[in-house]
Amino acid sequence: MQLLKDRIRKDGVIKEGNVLKVDSFINHQMDIKLMNEIGKEFRRRFAEEKIDKVLTIEASGIGIAAIVAQYFDCPMVFAKKSQSINLDGEMLTASVTSFTHQKEYQIIVAKRFIKEGEKVLIIDDFMANGCAAKGLCKLVSDAGADIRGIGIVIEKGFQEGGKYFRDQGYHLESLAIVDSMNAEDQTIVFRGEE
Ligand code: 5GP
Repeated sequence: MQLLKDRIRKDGVIKEGNVLKVDSFINHQMDIKLMNEIGKEFRRRFAEEKIDKVLTIEASGIGIAAIVAQYFDCPMVFAKKSQSINLDGEMLTASVTSFTHQKEYQIIVAKRFIKEGEKVLIIDDFMANGCAAKGLCKLVSDAGADIRGIGIVIEKGFQEGGKYFRDQGYHLESLAIVDSMNAEDQTIVFRGEE
């Protein structure tokens, strides 16, 4: 998605440790016009799918997934990262290792929000090693629901998540795939470019 790649080049900041900061338009302040284009693009890429639920993970995924869900005309569910007193009934849980915070945490969705047989589209802002997406896939599988696709805004193609999901036969769509990035000179190479 050229609009997104141009924006990453313009406003993204490459940090040491393979971290790309996009907090001026995705992760902290959000450019809603861009989010709308992202929603439209996911709708186009998963056009053949009838989706019952869009599933993401708090916190950064929520804003994006909400707009995506509007394009699929379905509810959006987000996995919570901590047990709260408002969570009741049966739970679906998975363990996820955070790339950015380097710690392990539980993700939780109430069972009543993902039902057996439902067609689910997983959405997240980034894919690095694929831990967050694997955790979300486990929740969907444990619910007896059907993963119809995984939509990622920015995939870091030099990390292993994307390859894992493609090798497993998932329909993974990433709107921008970063093949390499350099913190010293702030340059990025996207897949499909020289
Ligand atoms: P994974 O679980 O695939 O290793 O990492 C994906 C999760 O870590 C995403 O939900 C995202 O929040 C965070 N993440 C991974 N890499 C980056 C990055 O380079 N920049 C930002 N802002 N978040 C990242």
